[in-house]
Amino acid sequence: MPIDATQPYDDGNIFARILRGEIPANRVYEDEHALAFHDIAPQAPVHVLVIPKGPYVSWDDFSARASDAEIAGFIRAIGHVAREHVGRGYRLLANTGGDAGQEVPHLHMHVFAGGPLGPMIAR
Ligand code: AMP
Repeated sequence: MPIDATQPYDDGNIFARILRGEIPANRVYEDEHALAFHDIAPQAPVHVLVIPKGPYVSWDDFSARASDAEIAGFIRAIGHVAREHVGRGYRLLANTGGDAGQEVPHLHMHVFAGGPLGPMIAR
């Protein structure tokens, strides 16, 4: 069932469970506002997900409802995680809603790096 990026937050989603420590993740960074961990099915040599700690379904939800401190904290955390790869480049992606193929209803920024990443979007 495609994600509706405007649906209410579901506390049982898999990233909420990772945040609560109920299921493991290969964590690479954590601070007050964000957690980063390796994607379980990497689609690039480096594929890390950065998630806000607050209950936000999507980028749409987050950008509308999160506090300035949460937004700043999340963006800084993404920058921190990605900075290691800035020399050769990286790609950020936040699938939002059904047409974008969002699968997990907790905002996550994909960080792809570690080699040529190919075309920006599949045709
Ligand atoms: P999206 O399609 O943008 O919602 O991306 C969801 C991503 O979450 C996919 O790349 C999955 O491989 C990844 N994923 C799903 N479950 C887990 C998990 N338990 N730990 C790490 N990554 C996961």
